[in-house]
Amino acid sequence: TVPVLTIDGPSGSGKGTISRLIARRLGWHYLDSGALYRAIGVAAGWSDVDLADPAALVRCAFDTRIEFDESGEELRILVNGMDATDELRTETAGAAASAIAAIPEVRSALKERQRAFRQPPGLVADGRDMGTVIFPDASCKVFLTASAEERAERRYKQLKDKGVSVTLESLLREILARDARDAQRAVAPLRPAEDAVCIDTTGMSIDAVVERVLALLPA
Ligand code: C5P
Repeated sequence: TVPVLTIDGPSGSGKGTISRLIARRLGWHYLDSGALYRAIGVAAGWSDVDLADPAALVRCAFDTRIEFDESGEELRILVNGMDATDELRTETAGAAASAIAAIPEVRSALKERQRAFRQPPGLVADGRDMGTVIFPDASCKVFLTASAEERAERRYKQLKDKGVSVTLESLLREILARDARDAQRAVAPLRPAEDAVCIDTTGMSIDAVVERVLALLPA
């Protein structure tokens, strides 16, 4: 079977950055599962689909074309053929993703789409339920956390670098609200898999986290 490393955790825990770096180091594929939920939320918004209409959202989950273009310097994400990279990063898209991610039928609709990323030589899967639901048989599972303040600050810097204007206070509030919803929802609530290694990345450098995680992989 194709090896999978799952990296789960709340927003701003460093999952995305760490997962991408590790995938590059290992030459493995990378699944940004949050981007799938974000893309479907954004596509639903484009076509005026009501975020409270599960049947319509399930159709979006099956029909939305999502492509990851890794040919350039930066990863670009195309939604129904349109470059939506910047829109997907906004907290509005994050909130829409979190709302639709609480609908069980939407999560089921995305299951096979996510599992299809498991291709040789291996996969780094980044999300909330990679180790618990999507790849329960993963070879190695990691759960990253960090203090809420540090997570908000990391997102703030990320967004500021992209020229998005937000305040740290509003971002912290939004992140806390989204985390609470992700942790309390009935289906696939955010929690570490029983066999996951938890790493608190507060105050740790990116390189230090990458080395810690790489050291966990079976040789
Ligand atoms: O990781 P990211 O911030 O891009 O995820 C956006 C939202 O998508 C999360 O707040 C969560 O509600 C949802 N999500 C999920 N399961 C995943 C990945 C993301 O429920 N595997």
